[in-house]
Amino acid sequence: MSDMVIFGIRDYVRTLGIVTFVCAGCQNPAAHRVTRVVRKFTLFFIPLFPVAVRRTEVCTFCGKVTKLSKEQAELVLEMAKPKVGAADAAPAGPPDAPEPSQVD
Ligand SMILES: [Zn+2]
Repeated sequence: MSDMVIFGIRDYVRTLGIVTFVCAGCQNPAAHRVTRVVRKFTLFFIPLFPVAVRRTEVCTFCGKVTKLSKEQAELVLEMAKPKVGAADAAPAGPPDAPEPSQVD
């Protein structure tokens, strides 16, 4: 009688964000998908614990994959954040200078 233990490794991919910048591969200002891949040890197909984490960005134009460090990934995602919070940081005061008219 044999006891069968099924274990393995599985990658769990999570998209952290989409960032647009000029690609080092194709020189196009293309969208890049920043992902975090967590490799997990599985036992009977149940993920138990992570064994490795890596971050990559993939150019959606040419498909070039670049490995990122944790710091690089955070930096890239920081760049991608919309500047909606800028109003909070602006000094308080009467808006005496009206914005030049912008038509969407
Ligand atoms: Zn590219």
